[in-house]
Amino acid sequence: MSELQSDIQFLPGVGPKRAALIKRELGINTLEDLIHFYPFRYIDRSSITPIVSVTPDLAYVQVQGRVVSRNLINIKHLSVIVEDGTGRMEMVFFKGVKWNFDRLVPGATFLFFGKPQSFNGRINIVHPEVDAPQSDPSAKGTLTGVYPSTEKLKAGGITGKLMCKLERAALALCLPEVQETLPEYILAKYGLPSLPWALQNIHFPADMSALAAATRRLKFEELFYLQLSLLKQKYVRSRAANGLVMPHVGPAFHACYNALPYALTGAQQRVIKEIRADLSGGSQMNRLLQGDVGSGKTMVAVLSCLIAIGNGYQACIMAPTEVLAQQHYANIQKYLAPTGVTCALLTGSTTKKERKPILEGLADGSIQLIVGTHALIEEPVKYRALGLAVIDEQHRFGVSQRAALWSKGPDGIPPHVLVMTATPIPRTLAMTFYGDLDLSVIDEMPPGRKPVQTMLIGQNRLPAMYRFMREEIAKGRQVFVVYPMIFINEKMEDISNVEQGYEEIVKAFPLEEGYKVAIVHGQQNNEQKLFNMKAFVEGRAHILVSTTVIEVGVDVPNASVMVIRSAQRFGLSQLHQLRGRVGRGAEKSYCILVKDPKTGKDAQERLELMCATEDGFEIAEKDMKMRGPGDLEGTQQSGMPIELHIASLLRDGAMLDEARSCAQKVLDADPGLDRPQNLVLLRELRKGKYDIRDYSNIS
Ligand code: ADP
Ligand code: MG
Repeated sequence: MSELQSDIQFLPGVGPKRAALIKRELGINTLEDLIHFYPFRYIDRSSITPIVSVTPDLAYVQVQGRVVSRNLINIKHLSVIVEDGTGRMEMVFFKGVKWNFDRLVPGATFLFFGKPQSFNGRINIVHPEVDAPQSDPSAKGTLTGVYPSTEKLKAGGITGKLMCKLERAALALCLPEVQETLPEYILAKYGLPSLPWALQNIHFPADMSALAAATRRLKFEELFYLQLSLLKQKYVRSRAANGLVMPHVGPAFHACYNALPYALTGAQQRVIKEIRADLSGGSQMNRLLQGDVGSGKTMVAVLSCLIAIGNGYQACIMAPTEVLAQQHYANIQKYLAPTGVTCALLTGSTTKKERKPILEGLADGSIQLIVGTHALIEEPVKYRALGLAVIDEQHRFGVSQRAALWSKGPDGIPPHVLVMTATPIPRTLAMTFYGDLDLSVIDEMPPGRKPVQTMLIGQNRLPAMYRFMREEIAKGRQVFVVYPMIFINEKMEDISNVEQGYEEIVKAFPLEEGYKVAIVHGQQNNEQKLFNMKAFVEGRAHILVSTTVIEVGVDVPNASVMVIRSAQRFGLSQLHQLRGRVGRGAEKSYCILVKDPKTGKDAQERLELMCATEDGFEIAEKDMKMRGPGDLEGTQQSGMPIELHIASLLRDGAMLDEARSCAQKVLDADPGLDRPQNLVLLRELRKGKYDIRDYSNIS
């Protein structure tokens, strides 16, 4: 058996118990996994900080000092004072107390390494790593990798030092077997080192420049394969020329266009042109339409559908929730009035009796446009000739659903697809997650929209806020009050805070005084949800208390106030989406962010940014930067549809561009990757590491 595939438990110092822990915590099973598990940071062990310059804001320091005294405070607490000629400081141990007591004898000199902190006005290091003193500080190879770790790993004895030892052993066994993953001509063109060299130097860099070269090589490889995989799909599709051809604009388009109560914005016109070019071009359209909330995507969708209909095809518009589907249906019917196009609504709650004529109408083509939920692409639904599918608010739409949709086209030809999203995705992310889609952006708002005034308050201001809400309601407006969606486990939503919130609001806005309050949350069944939503949409309820089930797309132009409770728990993009629910009507609108008492510094910054800007792209970029690493110290952001080991989609934007253009050139020269020098590319792609699991998970 190859070394690469052998189990980590056989490495010296591991064994079955630790192996199980490493597997559970880090997902590392084989030596191959292990050598692809990289440090997230490096410590320059050659630099020693004089004790006098150690401050608690330094991330890590290394001091070299002589032990002055050791003080066993109790069986679980050892305090050691060290001195280096510039000053004295304390080292504290709560673990390995006896062992450290025995070795740290007064008079002896050691190297201590760790995070300084301030405790009772003095500076100390808790649990420093202790090494033999450095005799020659200019020694080579003093960059030490720090590996991602967790509390459980540390408790299980998997220290940073042990990780280094394991990596060294694994590399010694595996490097002779490691196969190059990039063709020679790419390595040469981009000046990249070989894979074995890069692996050796990412773990044990000879010096800074070796580390830089190894990092660049490994990042490039990841980004390159990611783009190659996506572009290949796109290439295959576009070369196949298997699109329905729609050469006409048609009378329905013109009828609708001429009856519009407003002029389209420049951005809307541009996007419609792009779509029109796709529809008439002969290959299947797969276009992502990105536009901030309220930028007028619906109109673009409707006009696109009318082009398909003008060419004798059917079109569908699919929304993520029933409420949205109903709302679209109501709006769209207005636009369709002058066109004579037949339109129907199909959702999960459409009754059997209503369903039958709809299914028949779709099958015989008498229904030209259908609006609905996922029900539209489910098994029994057959179209006579589905030419265009519009998917609104795509982030709940997965790959498998996309496949189901493709099979609904006429004669096995997939319909054109337009995916619409209000999530302002930073460009580097869009390039990756939608790398096989074309991108259109509506970057202009319809005229006359009023900015939403955003405020941040603490809970002490709630009474004042209630007064303000009463004033707005007295003017005939409505108010959203949103609570974060908290999950007990994957499915169960904890609704205690939204229920409590509801009771609070009902107390402050009693029925006896004529106030009506509705509540919507994820534990209600569809019917309850719809009923309560409708009460608000139709203006019968003054206040809607809910969790983020209302996040996407709901349009209540009369609502002028959006209150967000525990606002610190939301991501910036989510706050932006929620704020987009108000400011849709003619009235001045407000967004009130209510923070909880224990709001951290980062959260406070996020909330202040919300008050400072309404620009969705600026907010999205900042959000990506602020969110930082997930739970596992030093790992990539969690919640991404693909895991990258080393490259960051946020930070490595420039390299992503480079990798993409490299992938594009490779495919232009050899679309099937059939040339001998490209066989290695095909081999790596087939491993499936770079398949994006779900396009839908960005929010
Ligand atoms: P979203 O992009 O969030 O889906 P909508 O399509 O719901 O936005 O549009 C928001 C509002 O703006 C709707 O009430 C719509 O009628 C209006 N609207 C769309 N386009 C224009 C335009 N060009 N001029 C004025 N109002 C517009
Ligand atoms: Mg919309």
